[in-house]
Amino acid sequence: MTNQEGQAASFDGRIDAFRDDLLTWYDRDKRELPWRGIDDPYKTWVSEIMLQQTQVATVIDYYHRWLERFPTVEALAGADREQVMELWAGLGYYRRARFLHESATMVVDEFDGELPTTFDELQKLKGVGPYTAGAIASIAFGQSVPVVDGNVERVISRLQEIGGDPKSTANQKVYWALAEELVDPERPGDFNQAMMELGATICTPSSPSCMLCPVREHCHGFRAGHPEDFPGVASRARQKPVDVATCVLWRSASGGREYLTLQRPADGLLGGLWEFPTVETDGAAANADPMTDYLSGLDLDEVPDSRELGQLVHHFSHIRMTITAESREVHADAAIQSGDRAHRWVDEVALEDLPMSAAMRKVHVLFEQD
Ligand code: SF4
Repeated sequence: MTNQEGQAASFDGRIDAFRDDLLTWYDRDKRELPWRGIDDPYKTWVSEIMLQQTQVATVIDYYHRWLERFPTVEALAGADREQVMELWAGLGYYRRARFLHESATMVVDEFDGELPTTFDELQKLKGVGPYTAGAIASIAFGQSVPVVDGNVERVISRLQEIGGDPKSTANQKVYWALAEELVDPERPGDFNQAMMELGATICTPSSPSCMLCPVREHCHGFRAGHPEDFPGVASRARQKPVDVATCVLWRSASGGREYLTLQRPADGLLGGLWEFPTVETDGAAANADPMTDYLSGLDLDEVPDSRELGQLVHHFSHIRMTITAESREVHADAAIQSGDRAHRWVDEVALEDLPMSAAMRKVHVLFEQD
C-alpha cells in the first residue's frame, strides 16, 4: 500500500487501540528525564528549546546548570546577555539562547511573568514555532494539540507507508493532520512525548526494533516487511560554502599568554559570541592577504608575520565554513582599537570561560597542538 508523497491512509477506526497500546508502553518503559513529571511551564519551555537540534544526553547537564543559575523566568529576564551566552556555550545554535533571553523579558513585561498557555499565543515568543508551541501547550498546559518532530515524522511514515521527502510541504501537511487525528485528548502531553520516545528509542532510523514495538499491529510498514524504506530520502538543503581566515593573535604576559578576542555583533550568525580575529576570504584576490589588511585596520603598531596552523571545516545548519587558521605573536604591550566591536585580551583561564563557538574552540586546539 505504499503511499505517494503527500498521501496517507486513515487509521481505519483503530485510534483508541493505538493510543492505549502506545501509552501503556510509555507508562511502563519511558526514560526518566529531568524535565518529565514537573509542573512548571518555564522549565518545560527551557527543556524544549534546548532539545531543538540537540541530543537528550547532551541537554541534561545544560538543563540542570541553567535552572541552577536561572530558576525562574524573572531570573532569566534579569540576567545580562553575556551570562546567558556563557551558560549556553557549547550547546550550539546560539540563536536559541538569545531568543530565550529576549522572550523571558517579553513574558515578564507583557504577560505578567506567566508563560502564554495556548498553541497560538506561545508562537508569539521568539524561537517558538509550531513544534515547540505544540510541545509546551500539550505537556505544560494539557492542550490537545499535535507535535511533529523528526522522530514523529519517521514513526508516522512507517505506520502509514508514506514515501517521499519528509520535509516536503505535502508530507508535512499529512504528518500534522495525522498527528492531530491521533493525539489523545485525555493525555496529550504524554501522548506526544510517547510518539517522540518511540521514534528515539525503538523506531530508529536504521534497524527499527519492530519486535519490541508496542504499536506493531497498527504498522503498515512492518506488515509490508520493509519499514526502513520510510520515509523517503530528504533532499538535502544545500549548505552555502563560506571561507574565512582566523588568527590566534597573542602576546606574552606575566602569567603566560594573552589572546586577543573580539565580540561578534549581537545579530546574525553566532551573535554576541567571542572569537579570535576572523575575516571572510571569499572573493579575495589570489595575492591578497585579508587578515593582514584586517589587523592593520585595528591600529596595531606592527602586524607581525603569520604562522600557519591548518584548515578545518565546521558545519552550521545552512553554512559549510572552511576556516584557515594562523597565529601571530605581537609584542607584550601591544594594544588595538576595535571600533564598535568590544575586544578583550584574555589569558588561558579567561579564554575557557568566554562564550565562544565550537569552531573557535577547534582553532584554539590547533594552536595548542602547533
Ligand atoms: Fe516503527 Fe517497526 Fe514500530 Fe512500525 S513496527 S512503528 S516500523 S518500530
